[in-house]
Amino acid sequence: MGVKKKEFAVIGLGRFGGSICRELVQLGMEVMAIDMDEDRVNEYSSIASHAVIADTTDEMVLKSLGIRNFDHVVVAIGDNIQASILTTLILKELGVENITVKAQNDYHEKVLRKIGADQIVHPERDMGARIANNIASSSVLDYLQLSDEHSIVEIIANERLNGQNLQDLDIRAKFGLNIVAIKRENQVIVSPRATETLRTGDVLVVIGSDNDVDRFEDFLT
Ligand code: ADP
Repeated sequence: MGVKKKEFAVIGLGRFGGSICRELVQLGMEVMAIDMDEDRVNEYSSIASHAVIADTTDEMVLKSLGIRNFDHVVVAIGDNIQASILTTLILKELGVENITVKAQNDYHEKVLRKIGADQIVHPERDMGARIANNIASSSVLDYLQLSDEHSIVEIIANERLNGQNLQDLDIRAKFGLNIVAIKRENQVIVSPRATETLRTGDVLVVIGSDNDVDRFEDFLT
């Protein structure tokens, strides 16, 4: 039984909107790409399911595009805050179910919230915060890239792992990772047994795919 493809519209095809549009297409979604700039629209005519030149601050234009029937509309209008707000307001009035809007600043965000945008994103701020967190609290001490996707990493055990043995943790089954050694003070335990109990501060030498290592790191934090 086929599942109906979700239909998205992306308004504003700058770096952010463009990236959203490409990714949605990659994920197999139906995407209508909209911008008032003809060159931008041309760029996306071969990528998106449909690409349309339109000024979305015009209610009649949005109506004629049948915007109400889309499952989700992303407003990625950049510097023109007024256009972003007006577009969002019209989408809301037309009854669009899901509206995600890129905010330029806190004032913009406040207004968007007030008029009922379902999701508000601050790409630069959010990404900056995420990267700062990553580099500040990473539990990875060192790593050796084995291939494009696999590495050996040293991960420091925190309280979450304290007192648990490898069998309980079941890291191989849960994360697809193998612990090849444990460094504890001056000792190195090579090929640790399943009954080995971990302590806070142990350094785990782990081998696996980068994705699985990331998942394990997330589990630790
Ligand atoms: P980014 O910071 O993500 O690169 P930009 O400011 O470069 O964003 O891009 C925003 C896009 O939104 C531009 O391509 C611009 O033409 C488009 N845009 C701005 N106002 C409107 C509008 N009223 N209707 C449709 N598209 C618009």
